[in-house]
Amino acid sequence: MANLRLKALEKVEGRKAVYTDVPEGKISEYFGCDSFGLKQMQEVLSQPYYKEIKLAIEQGQKISSDHADAIAQAVKTWAIAKGVTHFTHWFQPLTGATAEKHDTFFNVMKGMEVLKGETLIRQEPDASSFPNGGIRSTFEARGYTAWDPSSPMFVWEKTLCIPTVFVSYTGESLDYKAPLLKSVEAVDQAATRVCRYFDRNVSKVSVSLGCEQEYFVVDRSLFNARPDLVLAGRTLLGHNPAKGQQLDDHYFASIPSRVLEFMKDFEVEALKKGIPVSTRHNEVAPSQFEVAPIFDDVNKATDQNSLLQDIMNKVAERHQLKVLFHEKPFAGLNGSGKHNNFSLVTNTGVNLFQPSSSARDNLQFLTFFVNTLKAVYTHADILRASIASAGNDHRLGANEAPPAIVSAFIGSELSAVLDELEHNGNVKVEKGDNMYMKLGIDKIPEILLDNTDRNRTSPFAFTGNKFEYRAVGSNANCGAPMTVLTTIVADQLNEFATEVDALVEKGEEKRLAIVNVLRRYIKESKAIRFEGDGYSAEWEKEAEKRGLPNVKNTPESLNAYISDKAVELFERNNVLTRRELEARREILLERYVRKIQIEARVIGDLCTNHVIPTALKYQNMLIANARGLKELGLDGSNAVATLKKLSVYVDTLRTEIQAMVNERKRVNLIEDIDEQAVAYCKDIKEKYFDEIRHAADKLESYIDDEEWPLVKYRELLFLR
Ligand code: ADP
Ligand code: MG
Repeated sequence: MANLRLKALEKVEGRKAVYTDVPEGKISEYFGCDSFGLKQMQEVLSQPYYKEIKLAIEQGQKISSDHADAIAQAVKTWAIAKGVTHFTHWFQPLTGATAEKHDTFFNVMKGMEVLKGETLIRQEPDASSFPNGGIRSTFEARGYTAWDPSSPMFVWEKTLCIPTVFVSYTGESLDYKAPLLKSVEAVDQAATRVCRYFDRNVSKVSVSLGCEQEYFVVDRSLFNARPDLVLAGRTLLGHNPAKGQQLDDHYFASIPSRVLEFMKDFEVEALKKGIPVSTRHNEVAPSQFEVAPIFDDVNKATDQNSLLQDIMNKVAERHQLKVLFHEKPFAGLNGSGKHNNFSLVTNTGVNLFQPSSSARDNLQFLTFFVNTLKAVYTHADILRASIASAGNDHRLGANEAPPAIVSAFIGSELSAVLDELEHNGNVKVEKGDNMYMKLGIDKIPEILLDNTDRNRTSPFAFTGNKFEYRAVGSNANCGAPMTVLTTIVADQLNEFATEVDALVEKGEEKRLAIVNVLRRYIKESKAIRFEGDGYSAEWEKEAEKRGLPNVKNTPESLNAYISDKAVELFERNNVLTRRELEARREILLERYVRKIQIEARVIGDLCTNHVIPTALKYQNMLIANARGLKELGLDGSNAVATLKKLSVYVDTLRTEIQAMVNERKRVNLIEDIDEQAVAYCKDIKEKYFDEIRHAADKLESYIDDEEWPLVKYRELLFLR
């Protein structure tokens, strides 16, 4: 009987692209048709209700319960007309996946379909098995979900999905959304305060997120034939293919037709749900791709990114494909990230990171720009913690994009502007002077016009009119990093405003006060700016000199969440309490331990059940061969030499796997989660994974291709 791998390969042989039926007509005709957005609301709600919900969405105002009834009624009718039978509160617990609990609209007692306002607003999922870091078990056994009107409801698989926050009865956040919403509120207040130095008309500042999503696509049968992909989401073994990404040919190549049809298909689904997907292209590694929607409000964009991942997973089934969102599915090839493009926008329509042609507006731009850099400098450790996961450690800790050191790239033009501001720190600007000219701030707009230099190695880069946080893992919920980024910027802006106000109080002219505080910030936060190659060994040394943190693993990086500095930061901005931070960190540590535990088990199983038996079989073949040669009086030394090599690797596998099993037994008994996570990192993963893999991959390179049981890299990666 052919082995699993050969059977899977046979299936793939005859695969053809599954043609996608793209709706005729313009995208605008079906965009958002499965989402209950403002357009749909306006069509079905009477004017006062529509106005109220619009205010709730745009300004966070509360919706009264009788109005909620009317909205529930309207959305139910709208959904039922689409053939929808169920509804669910849709939320993002700290498992990292989205969660739903479906209920039918059909009410047996009433003999009809019902959706009440109170059900829309609040629900109690039986959610005792969601991770809560001890919060719910100590206080209340249950948590509840509460409607977030600012993210549109949508229809998915004949179910009406209602975006909600997930909180405990004692009010603690149990999900990614609740703290994000709080951080958005914090930055709104702080940024509005600062904006009003420049423009009294600004009454609200919101956060925009455009999330570029990288992913790999593999054939479904091949995926299923790799237990490591199925169970751990990444290949734990596998010899490098003769051809990887060294030719850079995938990046520029046309998209394989099976993948192209898949892309068209999930894009249609996404567009229908109101996700404005706009770009698609190949990425650097073979079989790696990217999709990006047009940026939107951060809360909505975060929800839509999670939904997009769900949609892609689902649609891939129709195409006999499997999407890999893991940060590092293949050793030796680029990993995947989620580039979070971040900006702040005023209610007057100004992007605060957009340099302008007016010197006065540019002072505003510089204010937000410099404060963001300062925030990143002050809280680099918390930013690092916000993207920590077992998967992302493979990107951040390895010599690959981007490094674990948080630094900011701003381009040569803006560097020159900041340098000039810093160095002419002694230039005295007096009332009546042309301050902008004297300080060199007047020339930003022209030079920025060709600010096209990009630095792909930077984890945090300014790209013309936004900051791009690239270190986020491809499988992460954007909520965590965006909450941190938003909070640190909010905090920094408040500090700035307080300093400026104090100077103004003392009689300093406002503009001068702003410039002087900025000049100091530029100096203080200079260490965070780095324009060179972020992957180089020199940078590691240089960063160390600068005192920048370089934390390569998850357990260590998560400590930053509970430092006094972090607790004060999050509490001061009403985003997370100490208890919530501790709970979150505990959940993340637990998740880390589970992930490494699973990987260790899978490595053990794969080697014991697949690799070693195959190697032994091959050894026996070689033994017979060597004997035969000898009997015929021929030279069997080559066969014997190969046998010896094989034996060494087989022995290594046996010994190391046994040692790893023993070590795991010890580590599993550790009760303290901190200690256990560090032990899983140092004593299991770092000590055994690479060594075992090396031996297994060597065996793969020696053993008869016909006999090898695991689908090889070259087969997984070069999808036809
Ligand atoms: P790249 O060259 O890095 O691929 P793009 O210009 O394609 O960059 O933009 C990437 C993402 O950034 C998209 O999702 C886009 O909508 C988003 N984006 C563009 N402008 C902004 C902005 N002002 N704020 C937030 N995101 C933005
Ligand atoms: Mg980008």
